Amino acid sequence: MRPPSLPLQSCTRLVARNTPARIYQRHFSQAICKRGQQPRYEPPKPPPKGSDPRLARFAKVFGIFIGISIAFAYRAVKGTGDGGKTPVSAAGFVRYNLVGREQVSSTSSIFTLRAAGTTGLDIDVDFLQRAITSVQLKQPQLQIARSYTLLPPLPDQRASDIRLLIRREEGGEVSNYLHRLPLATEIEVRGPNVEYAIPQDVHKVVFLAGGTGVVPALQVVKAVAGEADVHVLWANRRREDCQSGVSDTVQPSNTWMATLLGIVSPFGGSITPTNPQVTEVTTTPSPIVTHLQDLKASGAGRVAVDYFVDDEDTRIALRDATKLVRGSFSTAANTNGRKILFVSGPEGFVKHWAGPKVWANGVEVQGPLGGVLATADLKGWEVVKL
Ligand SMILES: Cc1cc2nc3c(=O)[nH]c(=O)nc-3n(C[C@H](O)[C@H](O)[C@H](O)COP(=O)(O)OP(=O)(O)OC[C@H]3O[C@@H](n4cnc5c(N)ncnc54)[C@H](O)[C@@H]3O)c2cc1C
Repeated sequence: MRPPSLPLQSCTRLVARNTPARIYQRHFSQAICKRGQQPRYEPPKPPPKGSDPRLARFAKVFGIFIGISIAFAYRAVKGTGDGGKTPVSAAGFVRYNLVGREQVSSTSSIFTLRAAGTTGLDIDVDFLQRAITSVQLKQPQLQIARSYTLLPPLPDQRASDIRLLIRREEGGEVSNYLHRLPLATEIEVRGPNVEYAIPQDVHKVVFLAGGTGVVPALQVVKAVAGEADVHVLWANRRREDCQSGVSDTVQPSNTWMATLLGIVSPFGGSITPTNPQVTEVTTTPSPIVTHLQDLKASGAGRVAVDYFVDDEDTRIALRDATKLVRGSFSTAANTNGRKILFVSGPEGFVKHWAGPKVWANGVEVQGPLGGVLATADLKGWEVVKL
C-alpha cells in the first residue's frame, strides 16, 4: 500500500500531454551494514532465579491486552484523536469527501467536495476573492494530481465545500477516475493556487473562454462585478455544454444577415437583438449558464456574455474579439485603468488565440503573444493566457 502523502507535483495541461508526469515514491528499507563491521550477538539473559517463565509470558500478553484496551477506550471517548480537524498530509493534501456530482452535459459534471474534518483548505480568505484560483486533486493509484479551477461559491454553499466543473477527457487519467468515483469517496485536495491576481484598477475585460475555461471567467465576473466592463465570449463544442445560454450581443458571424444587422453595442461589439436562441430556452438550463446569468445580474449592467457552439457553426471570430477591444464603453464613468484580454481553455484553444504558454526554469510562464491575436491591434491591452 502506498503511504497517504506523497510529494506530488503540479501537472498542467501541457505537462499532462507531453509527459504524463507520474511521480512515484520509492521505499528503500535497506539495512546498512558497513564493510568489516561485525554483527553483535549477545547471549540470551537467563531468567531471574525463582521466576516462572510461563507466568512471565502470561503477564506480558496480559499487559499488551490492557494497553490496547485503554487505547481503544480513549479513541472512543475522544473521537479520532485529531480533535476533529482535517488532517493535512506532508505534501499538503487535505481529505475531502465527494458529496455531489451534478451532470452538466454528457462530458462534464459539477463536483461538490466537502472537507472530511471540521476545516478544509483556506479558500475563504480575502485576497482570494480577487484572484483566479485552482486546487489540485489527487489520483491515488497513479499518484498524480491535476489542477481544477474553483467555481465561485453559491450563496447557499457551505463554507467548507468546494465546487469544480470537470470535463471527462477522452483517455484522460484523472478526469475519468474522478467521473467514475461513487459518492462519499474520499478525495485528497491540495491548494489553493493563485493562477492570476486580478488588479484593483482593472477597467475593462474581454474573456475568450473555451469549454471549462469559462470557470475563471466566472471568478473574474464575480470579483469585478459592477467595477469593470466584462465581456465573455464562451465557445463550446456542443450546445449541451451551454444549454439555454442566450447571447447578449454578438452572434452569428457566419451569416450575411449578422453583418447587415450588426450595430455597435455598449461593449463595442455588434448586436443582433432580434436573434435570441429561443429554441434552447425550453430545455433544462445548464447550471453553469444559470450561474453566469446570476453573476451577470450582479454586474450592474456591465457584464455581457455571448455563446458560440462549434456544432452550430458559430465560432468566435477574430473580428468579434477585436471589435470588443476597439469599442468604447459608454456606460463606464471611469475610462482609466487596465484592460485585460483573457484567453482561457484547453491547450489548443489558448495556442490558437494567443500562442502556447512556455516553460522557463521549471515554471510555466506566459510566453510571447502568438496565435491569431498576434495579428490584431491590441494596443493598450494586456493578454493573459490561462
Ligand atoms: C490551472 C489549471 C486549471 C484547470 N482547470 C480545469 C477545470 O476547471 N476543469 C477541467 O475539466 N479541467 C481543468 N484543467 C485541466 C485539468 O488539469 C486536466 O489537465 C484535465 O482534467 C485532463 O487531465 P487527465 O488526467 O484526465 O488527462 P491526461 O491523462 O492528462 O490526458 C489529457 C489528454 O491527453 C491525452 N494523452 C495523454 N497522454 C498522451 C500521450 N502520451 N500521447 C497522446 N495523447 C495523450 C489523453 O488522451 C487526453 O485526451 C485545468 C488545468 C490547469 C493547468
